[in-house]
Amino acid sequence: MSSRKSELETLKAELQARLTRYEAHQHREAGALDKDFEEQATQTQNDEVVDSLEVETRAELVQIAHALERIDSGAGDECEKCGEQIDPRRLQVLPYTTVCVNCADN
Ligand SMILES: [Zn+2]
Repeated sequence: MSSRKSELETLKAELQARLTRYEAHQHREAGALDKDFEEQATQTQNDEVVDSLEVETRAELVQIAHALERIDSGAGDECEKCGEQIDPRRLQVLPYTTVCVNCADN
């Protein structure tokens, strides 16, 4: 098993744990309807922040699943667009990327 794959698996587990926390947060707040208005407004803002974090986390999980599929299919660290090897330094920063730096800029 490549180290990038285990890194992605770890990241995936972390993000899934985070999603579970976001969902727990949303469920708890959904039941809190008897608070005064000011508090509700703050909660609504929090909910919006958590909502956008949740969307972001889900998008990252989709990327990770896609990167893992490519590793499993043997494409490994090849760029999805041009077929060149992705710079290992880039993969260290963005382990779930599937395009090289040149293609990401385009
Ligand atoms: Zn490329």
